Amino acid sequence: MTNHELFDRAKAVLPGGVNSPVRAFLSVGGTPYFVERAKGSRVWDAEGNEYLDYVQSYGASILGHADPVAIDAVQRAATDGTTFGAPTRSEVELAELVCSWVPGLEMVRMTSSGTEAAMSAIRLARGATGRNKVVKFAGCYHGHTDSLLAAGGSGVANQGLVGSAGVPPAAVADTVVVPYNVVPTLDDETAVLAIEPVAANMGLVEPEPGFLQACRDECDRVGALLLFDEVITGFRLGRGGATAWSGVQPDVWAFGKVIGGGLPVGLFGGSREVMANVAPLGPVYQGGTLSGTPLATAAGLAVLGQLDDDRYEALTATAARLAAGLADAMTSAGLAVQVPQVGPLVGLFFTDEPVRDYDDAKAAADTGLYPSFFHAMLAEGIAFAPGPYEAIFPSLAHSDADIDRTIETAGRVAASLAAG
Ligand SMILES: *Cc1c(COP(=O)(O)O)cnc(C)c1O
Repeated sequence: MTNHELFDRAKAVLPGGVNSPVRAFLSVGGTPYFVERAKGSRVWDAEGNEYLDYVQSYGASILGHADPVAIDAVQRAATDGTTFGAPTRSEVELAELVCSWVPGLEMVRMTSSGTEAAMSAIRLARGATGRNKVVKFAGCYHGHTDSLLAAGGSGVANQGLVGSAGVPPAAVADTVVVPYNVVPTLDDETAVLAIEPVAANMGLVEPEPGFLQACRDECDRVGALLLFDEVITGFRLGRGGATAWSGVQPDVWAFGKVIGGGLPVGLFGGSREVMANVAPLGPVYQGGTLSGTPLATAAGLAVLGQLDDDRYEALTATAARLAAGLADAMTSAGLAVQVPQVGPLVGLFFTDEPVRDYDDAKAAADTGLYPSFFHAMLAEGIAFAPGPYEAIFPSLAHSDADIDRTIETAGRVAASLAAG
């Protein structure tokens, strides 16, 4: 069956043919490839085409696809039963591991997605402070919770929607959106300042020096909590995520993606004092039938267990090779690009100006060059995300040869784009 045939069938029973909007290729046009299987840096589609994959489940697969240790752990866990409605040892082990890695993180609660983690972290912050107002940054994505969708970057931006239909004005009445990289002035009604400490859903935007610390100080001035949404940065920038990377500690965290080893897990947490507000210890209700499900905790433990400083150094070196190579090859070909890199994360903007906030990112996307670049690369068997607001995710399975082929191909593609 061809991708086209599958897409037609999909569109009859799934809105847009997909279970998450960006996958529908709306912002790049054309037909999505339907993945049949994947291994390491590669995915293969329903027609047998091979792609060198920089999507990697939007960063969830840090080791590359189908890591044998993780697959084995999942298979062994499945043999013993997949969900019980009772606590398990592997939840305890994963929680202990995560708390030992992230500076200041003392207690966590597991969920099944990053959306739930961020949503619950917001509820916790409101419950702990007795305040309602949430301040978020334009272009930061915190999942598809009603109150957090405003100016959400990523798939929300790809669709050209500011927020979403179906979100009542009352749901966002207490949400304030401010520009990234400008320290907001908060007031004593603010429950929480939510931020992606390195923004990776409007392309990749690095916080300017001192910005995160100044956010920390402003929260302290008014008694608001600081929330780091580390769903992408967690266990990717290093064992201690953006917290260790920046040296700035928030009050509450949200994690997802890498922590589930490719299975559905999210997690939010904080100090013992803050987490004492969470039910059954405290009055902030939160729960889930499949929260901390044994397959996901087994996968998470198997993946995190393989990540040490050497692996993070290797992944950062891969990202640096890719970023420097892309910038050089594409600029030499006559195309203005910015290729930001923060540790293992890489971004790509079609502009000659540094990108420091959502308006800058939108201006780069509005050049309309991304869809042409995307399709030309895909035709050469190299898959970037089907939208201009996503980060590029090299994995530990990407070899230097993979990176060099990507750079060489991008240089040729850039030359043809520059020639118009
Ligand atoms: C992906 C993402 C989320 C949402 O996680 P899901 O697992 O897709 O619900 C939240 N915050 C950030 C920063 C993300 O990148």
